[in-house]
Amino acid sequence: MLLINCPWCGAREQTEFSYHGEAHIVRAKKTEALSDEEWADYLFMRTNPKGVHYERWMHVFGCRRWFNVARHTVTGEIYGSYQIGDDKPAAALEAQKKQ
Ligand SMILES: [Zn+2]
Repeated sequence: MLLINCPWCGAREQTEFSYHGEAHIVRAKKTEALSDEEWADYLFMRTNPKGVHYERWMHVFGCRRWFNVARHTVTGEIYGSYQIGDDKPAAALEAQKKQ
């Protein structure tokens, strides 16, 4: 089980949270200008790294706020939790360089 640090509530067990996919997905601004392929890519295509992954989580059984987690997909190591809009954790960026 993971121990996740909510930026507002502190460390809690994984069962209090829900996972909502990849973080840092840039929203399409002019969707009417996108081709079908670009639209499908925006809606459905996500990275699936073997290593550091930036994920969006929600503290469902707590403050109910959204935030991001940088986590290693193989070891489960969490490099940091951070509020949406904040910079990625330095430890995660360092780990990515070693991949
Ligand atoms: Zn919380």
